[in-house]
Amino acid sequence: MLGLYGKDRRLNTRESTSRILRVLAQQHSSKKCPACDEYVLAVRPYRSRGKNLLLTVCTLGIWLLVWGYETVRYSGWRCNDCGHQL
Ligand SMILES: [Zn+2]
Repeated sequence: MLGLYGKDRRLNTRESTSRILRVLAQQHSSKKCPACDEYVLAVRPYRSRGKNLLLTVCTLGIWLLVWGYETVRYSGWRCNDCGHQL
C-alpha cells in the first residue's frame, strides 16, 4: 500500500513505515568521511532535550539512565554508507 522503492526492489508496508520512522528520528547533514574519502550523508539520532527532561521528571529520575546510555551509545554523526563515526 505505502510501497516505497528500495535500491533494487519494492518495499512492503512494514518496511516502508519503519524506514519513514527511522528517517524522522534522525538528523541529516553532509560531512567528509575519512573511511569513504568523500563527502557523504551523515546521520545522527534526533534527541529532544525537552522530551527527555519531561520523561526524567515523570519517572522520578529513572529516565536519566536511558538518556545517559543513549548519549554514550549513539553519540555524534555517523556515515550513512559505512557507519564510521565522523
Ligand atoms: Zn563512510
